[in-house]
Amino acid sequence: MLITTNGIILRERPVGENDKYAEVLSEDLGVIEVSVKGARKITSKNAAGTQLLTYSRLCVNKTGGRYILNSSQPLNTFYNIRLDVKKLALAAYLSDILRFTTPPEEPAGEVLRLFLNTLYYLDNSSRDTEQLKIVFELRIMCELGLMPELIGCCECFRTTDKMYLNIYEGKLVCGDCINENEFGKCLPLDKTMLHTVRYICLSEFEKIFSFRISEECQKKLSPVSERYLTVQLSKVFSTLEYYKNI
Ligand SMILES: [Zn+2]
Repeated sequence: MLITTNGIILRERPVGENDKYAEVLSEDLGVIEVSVKGARKITSKNAAGTQLLTYSRLCVNKTGGRYILNSSQPLNTFYNIRLDVKKLALAAYLSDILRFTTPPEEPAGEVLRLFLNTLYYLDNSSRDTEQLKIVFELRIMCELGLMPELIGCCECFRTTDKMYLNIYEGKLVCGDCINENEFGKCLPLDKTMLHTVRYICLSEFEKIFSFRISEECQKKLSPVSERYLTVQLSKVFSTLEYYKNI
């Protein structure tokens, strides 16, 4: 069965001398592994369309639950990301999150849109790399149905100047209601941080890239969004450690 879909290459793995497997985040089929015959030959017509982080129109042949690439046409190569180690490291980490969380055989339109927009701003350098990391980490959790409760303190419903995010239970607690046992599970959120988290999680998609997070807020918020994600997904990403060490 021939299927045509748009997708982005998250990872590639060489097979034999000339072939490779490409892990693709596709619009219609979620994350799938596609066999690309002859991809590593210089003359391959699919070399450009199946490069890492390239967004392509893909025509795949599905036989016995496996996908074999028929043809590809690159739509966006995000070329500048390849030229910057830090950006490439962030893209690798975000790719790992997607590979871990996106189920196969299900449409992944919203998640793909989030990733493509993040890469677009990463590629053209119009947003700070760290800001894009925060936006992606928080928004992907919303897409996965793991958005924290952000209305107010889970005990008294107020929003005070000193709030905490319980990253294990995904809820807010204020400085008056927090108890001793909770401290280990909570990270502090000041007013600006909370406002930023609410904006990213609760705004319409079109708005989440159209604002700026100050450098000071980025520094404080980035550890919170990554801790929330890794705790909620119960997963440590080695690519995150690599990104942070650059
Ligand atoms: Zn309270």
